[in-house]
Formats: sequence, structure tokens, C-alpha cells
Amino acid sequence: MSNVENVIIIGSGPAGLTSAIYTARANLNPLMIEGYEAGGQLMITNDVENYPGFADGITGPELMQVTRKQAERFGTRFITANVTKVDFSVRPFKVWVGNDEYQAKSIVISTGASAKYLGLDSEKAFMGKGVSACATCDGAFFRDMNVCVIGGGDTAMEEANFLTRFAKKVWLIHRRDSFRASKIMADRVMNNEKIEILYNSELKEVRGEKLVSSIVIYNNKTKEDIELPMEGVFIAIGHQPNTKIFKDQLDLNETGYIVTQPKSSYTNVDGVFAAGDVQDHVYRQAITAAGSGCMAAIDAERWLEKQGV
Ligand code: NDP
Repeated sequence: MSNVENVIIIGSGPAGLTSAIYTARANLNPLMIEGYEAGGQLMITNDVENYPGFADGITGPELMQVTRKQAERFGTRFITANVTKVDFSVRPFKVWVGNDEYQAKSIVISTGASAKYLGLDSEKAFMGKGVSACATCDGAFFRDMNVCVIGGGDTAMEEANFLTRFAKKVWLIHRRDSFRASKIMADRVMNNEKIEILYNSELKEVRGEKLVSSIVIYNNKTKEDIELPMEGVFIAIGHQPNTKIFKDQLDLNETGYIVTQPKSSYTNVDGVFAAGDVQDHVYRQAITAAGSGCMAAIDAERWLEKQGV
């Protein structure tokens, strides 16, 4: 039986670490269970140029390292492992890491979301070397180059349009002959002269030496392969929130994101708060995640105060 913590933070991307900084500075002595893939999606992001405060940019891993240090400085304790089970139906709440049980008066969930990938070996090999899952993060590195976006949903439309600001030409590659995206978003793509749409097309292989230089596309109607010169490949086939362990514990929306009350980090369970991409499929930026981590910390602090902690 362990001590009862004031707050356990699950997940260690910008949302979780910001929660840790705030709750630690509020003397709540937070315990963070950071996961084996600590740092989250920023750990696979090369250069971050849009996080305020870094005029010359910073790499994703460096940003997470310095933020973790800041959380540590105020006394955050870390466990580098994955949470395997939770029970939010009892007080104090219970959190397990394998057979080890932890208890807490409040919980901040910041387990993030993961971009979905196609699962090609070559896609993995060129991650950060031309393959990306975030146009907002990496689009500006492809000025005057040829790039493609894979997907047919709103994200793919938005990213394709966004990329035309930088790229010489954008190919939108979709596996079917019609889009899932909303009409207004699809129309924007179809009316954009810099975008060429390839329907019934599947990315088969990414090629290059150190960096991406071409892609092979399989046309599932003609059954033919074509190779296109290409420097950037943006995978936009959706995100998966990391909420498997919370499925029977919290209200999730139809796509698995934790539902939070508007303008707060409150979940449907009193004392359990959620921050960052695990509850936000719209903005998905490091800075918005950090901002919502701050909200969760303040919500938790005030809630604990009301409970007399
Ligand atoms: P969606 O699930 O809506 O779309 C995913 C797209 O990727 C689909 O076209 C799908 O193809 C394709 N896809 C999925 N798996 C594969 C695969 N293995 N190989 C090839 N293609 C694949 O995800 P989004 O991220 O686009 O959108 C998520 C939610 O966020 C939606 O509700 C969307 O409306 C919303 N959103 C809203 C925005 C806005 O309003 N500004 C901007 C961005 C997102 P298929 O169609 O064949 O299934």
C-alpha cells in the first residue's frame, strides 16, 4: 500500500509537464508517470519554430528535456513506465504500473494522441527526414519543394491547403475516388491551382538516400505503380487518442477523445482532469497542450482546496 498522492499526472508531453510545473510550484508534490515514450509527439519532431520563447527554434526533444528539468526543479517525481490500469470509481483513485499500485486524491491525464501511420517500413525509415505527420509543425521546411499529403479527411484538406503557402506543388493522394472531408474543405483543395489530386492512389514506398527524394504510388484502379519525385510526405490519416486504459472509466467521445467540460479540464469524474491532445483533436499544438496543462493544474489545485487538501 503506497502513500496517497495529492496528484498523479499520467503522461509527459507539454500538457503533463506544464501541469507538473504548476502543481509542483503549488506545493502539491506531484508524481508523474511519464511513460516509456516520455515526451510524447515532440520527441519525433525535429525543429520546433513556433513555440513562443525560442527565437531561434528548438528541437522537440530539447524542448521536452528543458521542460522536464523545470518540472524537476520544483520537486516533481517521475516514474518512467506506462500506466497499465486505473480505477477512478473509488477514492482515493487507483493507478497501476504493472503490479505496483499508486493512490491519489486527484489525477491529471495527459497521455496525448498518436498520429496514425500507414505502417510502411520506408515511411518509418524517413520519419523526420521528409516524412511528417504535422504540416503546421514542419511545412515551412519545404519551401519551393514538391510535397504530398496522404488522406481524404478534413485534416488532409487543411494540410494540403496550408502547404501551398510554402511548397512548389502539393499532391493530395487519397485511396478512394471521393473525399471523407467536409464539402467546403474539399472545395478549397479542388479550387487550389497548386494542388493536384490523385484519387484511387495508395502510397506504396518512400524512396531516397538520406532524405526523401521520391515516392511510389499504386493506383488501385489501373493496378499500376508510378514513381513521383517528392521531397516531403505528410501523412494525414487521422490521430488516435491514447485512451485505451480509460475506456470504462471516463466519458470518451465517439472517436475516443476524453470529453472535458467547456473551458475547463474537468472530466465527468470529479477530481480527474484531462489536458492536451488526449482531449483536443482540433488544435493539437505543443503550446495549446501546454496551456491546457496549466488549466488542469489550476483546476486540480482549486478542486483539492475545496476538498480541504
Ligand atoms: P478522418 O478519420 O476524418 O479521415 C482520415 C482520412 O484518412 C480518410 O479519408 C481515410 O480514408 C484516410 N485513411 C485512413 N486510414 C488510411 C490508410 N491506412 N491508408 C490510406 N488512407 C487512410 O481524420 P481527420 O484527421 O481528417 O479528421 C478527424 C476529425 O477532425 C474529423 O471529425 C474532422 O472533421 C475533424 N477536423 C476538422 C477540421 C476543421 O474543421 N477545420 C480540421 C481537421 C480535422 P477513407 O476516407 O477511405 O476512410
